[in-house]
Amino acid sequence: MTRKLKRLIDRSRQVFIVAHVDPDGDTIGSALGLARSLRKMGKDCTLACADSVPDALLFLPGVEEFGIPRLTDEDLIIAVDVSHPNRLGQAYRHLPSLDTPMVNIDHHFTNSMFGTINLVRIEATATAEIIFDLLQEWEVLLDSVLATHLLTGIVTDTQSFSTPSTTPRILEVSSQLMKAGASLTEIHENYYKKREVETLHLWGRILAEMQLDDQLVWSVSTLDMQSRSHAAPDDGDGIVNLLATARQAKAAIMFTENEDGKIGISIRSRPGVDISPIAIHFGGGGHPQAAGTELLGDLCEVIPKVLIKAKDVLNAHDPK
Ligand code: 5GP
Ligand code: MN
Repeated sequence: MTRKLKRLIDRSRQVFIVAHVDPDGDTIGSALGLARSLRKMGKDCTLACADSVPDALLFLPGVEEFGIPRLTDEDLIIAVDVSHPNRLGQAYRHLPSLDTPMVNIDHHFTNSMFGTINLVRIEATATAEIIFDLLQEWEVLLDSVLATHLLTGIVTDTQSFSTPSTTPRILEVSSQLMKAGASLTEIHENYYKKREVETLHLWGRILAEMQLDDQLVWSVSTLDMQSRSHAAPDDGDGIVNLLATARQAKAAIMFTENEDGKIGISIRSRPGVDISPIAIHFGGGGHPQAAGTELLGDLCEVIPKVLIKAKDVLNAHDPK
């Protein structure tokens, strides 16, 4: 598999690297790390993402290159951390149907294998770990920028080395990335510790709306709450992890109203509780402890529908 990938790369000159919509640290860090490595190998790279990169990731060197370019002379497409063509976004979901070969590098067990080559390793902690392994195989020398890109993917996908997906091996990989010059403190300072006051005001409103329903804690971010806080819908990203700290809760769900009429749904759970079936039931995906989807409709119809399914899943897991 990786030999076939190397042959494709050797034959290509210009590579189109695409990250997933609503981008997170793993898709952005992996895409940047891959681009930097391929450039060291003499390739031209274009970086694409249908959505803009969140403020918390703007510290990453090279991140300003992301945009929504059209595919032109590129002879290879590589999707990173993308589980399904839908996750490429409106601008790019047609890419798998083009004649240009497409490589799918990912670690989601829900991956739909949409590439010409699918390098999907569900045991990998983060897509950044798969990229790290490729670089070792290709004998690309790590530098501090490359190491920062990959360590950011690992830190953000493991919620700072705290999820059950954190393996002894990922700590070894991270140690090598730190030795190559990546700073864990710099990543933490930038990603977790530089929130706008408006964001924290929004978080306050979301926490005030929080409800505990048996083993499930949930809350909402309405357009009205966002505008009163002078914040945007994605300023609520990450608060679901805080909701999930409620002692009584096995799972947390965050409902975010967006201007386009879609409700974003983010789900988290305690180790050993698999909430991915909830997201999958509503057309989404993710991991056992962190999954999500998007639904068209009003909050008042979406919330009860999702809560009923969530309770089914939690009860099946832990029948009373
Ligand atoms: P988050 O709640 O942080 O947005 O996403 C948690 C996990 O669920 C991530 O692994 C992300 O890739 C996945 N995820 C979130 N939204 C969607 C979606 O709409 N579709 C799919 N397939 N996966 C999603
Ligand atoms: Mn990931």
